[in-house]
Amino acid sequence: MFGLMQDRPLLISSLLTHAERYHPASEIVSVPCEGPVVRTDWAGIARRARQMAQALQRMGVKPGDRVATLAWNTHRHLELYYAVAGIGAVLHTVNPRLYPEQIDYILNHGGAEVLLFDLPFLPLVDAQMDKLPTLRHAVVMTDAAHMPAGRDDLVCYETVLAAEDGALVWPSFDERQASGLCYTSGTTGNPKGVLYSHRSTVLHAFLCCAADGLHLSRADATLLAVPLFHVNAWGIPYASAMCGAKLVLPGLKLDGQSLYDLARAEGCTLSLGVPTVWIGLFKYLDEAGIDPATLPFERVLIGGSAAPRALLRRFHEAGVHAFQAWGMSETSPVATVATLLPHQQALGLDGKLDVLTRQGRAMFGVELKIVGEDGQELPQDGSASGELKVRGPWVTSGYYGGVGGQVLDADGWFATGDVARIDTEGFVTLTDRAKDVIKSGGEWISSIDLENAALGHPAVEAAAVIGVYHEKWQERPLMLVVRKRDTAPEPAEIRAVLEDKVAHWWLPDAIVFVDSLPLTATGKLDKKAMRAVWKDYLATA
Ligand code: ADP
Repeated sequence: MFGLMQDRPLLISSLLTHAERYHPASEIVSVPCEGPVVRTDWAGIARRARQMAQALQRMGVKPGDRVATLAWNTHRHLELYYAVAGIGAVLHTVNPRLYPEQIDYILNHGGAEVLLFDLPFLPLVDAQMDKLPTLRHAVVMTDAAHMPAGRDDLVCYETVLAAEDGALVWPSFDERQASGLCYTSGTTGNPKGVLYSHRSTVLHAFLCCAADGLHLSRADATLLAVPLFHVNAWGIPYASAMCGAKLVLPGLKLDGQSLYDLARAEGCTLSLGVPTVWIGLFKYLDEAGIDPATLPFERVLIGGSAAPRALLRRFHEAGVHAFQAWGMSETSPVATVATLLPHQQALGLDGKLDVLTRQGRAMFGVELKIVGEDGQELPQDGSASGELKVRGPWVTSGYYGGVGGQVLDADGWFATGDVARIDTEGFVTLTDRAKDVIKSGGEWISSIDLENAALGHPAVEAAAVIGVYHEKWQERPLMLVVRKRDTAPEPAEIRAVLEDKVAHWWLPDAIVFVDSLPLTATGKLDKKAMRAVWKDYLATA
């Protein structure tokens, strides 16, 4: 017998309708690429999203069609999040930091007929245009005053928006309809598309607003330091409408000074971003002689790659509760969140950091397990380590267009490609990505632990550990270190810090100083690029 409750679909448009009705004056602050700052609110976003939805329909966009963006964090990009999904089309956010060939592949594979982009990407779009046979409309996300002269082939965002009256009623449809498309960075093989649904997106938004989730609420003013093209900015654009939080969109400026100034000016309580962004923020504060205690944040979520202990410590010493979450494009992305349990609240800072350097515990809806190389489930005892598998209503069941074939096992588990331990309380500790694992004489060495330890040395700005060829052990760790400006530590000093923290046989065979480390398009250490350069270092050194 079925229950007798209403079967109302969970639609993305309902988030915006709610924000417009209950939080109309909650502010949205945006720094468009061509400046100056735009101040609007949820009522303004809702009105303009309806106008833009009408404009898209006028361009011929129908349910199921993909609409692509190459854009930074601005109010216009936020409007598209709702305008596109609201009419049943699919928002395909493309990462503009990828190589042009990857962008070309991703745009073609997504098959969008409409592409909207920020002005700085005009040269990129011009170079791609003739490689995109499906493209019918190229829309510049700017106003008439900033439109490139003499370009009849381009459409102006503000002009087409202004031509509509906004009298659109969001259509209702099946909550399982696709709403968004993001491609994984494709560090192995071609990028693969993850296709989100309205249902998965709304359920994920509840998790962001849950107290033991990301705890987003109406009381927050969130500085979005994670790009809208990086896994839906971790779900915050949707969750912010759900709870009516103020949202601050920094445009293309994610450097330390811009983030600090904007956060202070707007009284931001929360921010989210990858470790590189926060390392850049502290670098700015240190060089400018600014006391980190002047940061306005109450909370900072660090994700995308492991949050270094030294970084978490700096935030906590400044009175900011920094914590981390783990996830991936395939998990919408948040799957685990590191929240202190009641018995951990009273711990001193070091004890708390022991908890917060882990990737966290599964939220309701997410199931986790680890398996050994034979595929058998391993105990969650804090010491066994294996590949992490995940299952849940905001976890992918396959890639767009069937790429990669069947990705779930017979019981519906998705293999993440991450290697982890899970302790008896359910805390996940990630040790590596499977493809970055360092296997020395058949035993695994955690690059994350080694990097974390190195970052504990005050002169280390960045550190990366990769496995390189070794005659006897097949692979041994090599550590690449970027030193802070005006410091000159010797390898032995860094080694001494590591010796305190990790098993002796884990110690890198060499510590090499470099000027910078290559990053991926999502701001993570690009170990594939490092291995290409350094793979024979020990054999030839
Ligand atoms: P990309 O491949 O573009 O980086 P994702 O953003 O989907 O794509 O990356 C997901 C991966 O990032 C995860 O599989 C994991 O390896 C890593 N990751 C995400 N969050 C964390 C975290 N808190 N700690 C360690 N690694 C993380």
